[in-house]
Amino acid sequence: MKPFLMGRSEAELTAYAGERGIPAFRARQIASWLYRHAVCDPDAMKNLPAELRTALKNDFYAPGCRGAETVASPDGVEKLLLTLYDGEHVEMVILPAEDGRVTFCLSTQVGCPVRCRFCASGRHGLVRNLKAEEMLEEFACGVARAGRPDNLVFMGIGEGLLNFDELAAALGRLTGEFGMSPRRITVSTSGYVPGMERFAALRREYNLAVSLHAADDATRAKLIPPHFRYPVQDILRAADAVRESNGRQYTLEYTLVAGINDSPEAAEELGRLAVAHRAKVNLIPYNETGSEFRRPERPVIAEFERRVAAAGARVTRRVERGGRSTAACGQLRSERVNHGGEER
Ligand code: SAH
Ligand code: SF4
Repeated sequence: MKPFLMGRSEAELTAYAGERGIPAFRARQIASWLYRHAVCDPDAMKNLPAELRTALKNDFYAPGCRGAETVASPDGVEKLLLTLYDGEHVEMVILPAEDGRVTFCLSTQVGCPVRCRFCASGRHGLVRNLKAEEMLEEFACGVARAGRPDNLVFMGIGEGLLNFDELAAALGRLTGEFGMSPRRITVSTSGYVPGMERFAALRREYNLAVSLHAADDATRAKLIPPHFRYPVQDILRAADAVRESNGRQYTLEYTLVAGINDSPEAAEELGRLAVAHRAKVNLIPYNETGSEFRRPERPVIAEFERRVAAAGARVTRRVERGGRSTAACGQLRSERVNHGGEER
């Protein structure tokens, strides 16, 4: 396997130039294309000589991933289906907000080993982890389409904390070379406690979002299979440790599923937990993805939100965006890609 050009530091590029007898200033030019312009295709690096562009394409994956398809919806949301160097696919999403701010949603794995029962990303299990460089290329694809984002969320396909080293390396480059503030980056986890502990040990001001979905373990067990599921109390303890490490209030994400976790009592219990742990709540009405689950009726969602707020918690609701067939993470890949091969 070749190295990726995206993600190489200026020092690595200088060493590469040295080995090939290329002047060192070329390494600075390449780094500038990669990190100031978020360009990973040597053919677009206009100030490089043609032979250097060819050498880069031979010696590196440059770029390693290409846009295969873009699905735009009337509210401005764009989903990019990306083909990776080995023919696998992931999605990245560009979400413009009404105030003009733009958020990118990035994937961390091809498929997902957690296999939450409601989620299209996990339906066929894990195919492979993404390399840090591939996450950076997702970012670059978004920049090419929409310019630099205001915010970045790792809420696409995959459980990033199960691919911790690559995620951490990508975060390092995003806040280093790419110059993003860690406060503008959010990592979402299904509650993988060992990964949350490592996340706390980074001691950086990244935001954490925890996909709790239920305030009690019995309800959670209806949505999340056992192999990567941790007790609610352990998850909250780990999330508290993240807050103590970086001073950032975390978010409890709660995918609302009809008849499973949408009762008035569940709302009150969630509100109580959020207050006790000083967490925000983000309600995500379920996007139906061909699973056995259904989205609650509108009044049920409104009443749930009201009760969480009445318990004293700060609560927001994710507005439905991105059009019906592509609203949920993993749905586009799942619809477009023929999942032959082994399931894990
Ligand atoms: N694996 C991480 C991040 C990716 S999923 C995690 O689980 O947190 C990002 C969020 O989207 C999670 O809160 C997940 O529960 C939610 N989600 C996935 N599929 C969904 C669907 N079909 N409808 C609503 N929310 C969904
Ligand atoms: Fe994986 Fe998150 Fe989907 Fe669960 S919700 S299967 S953890 S991507």
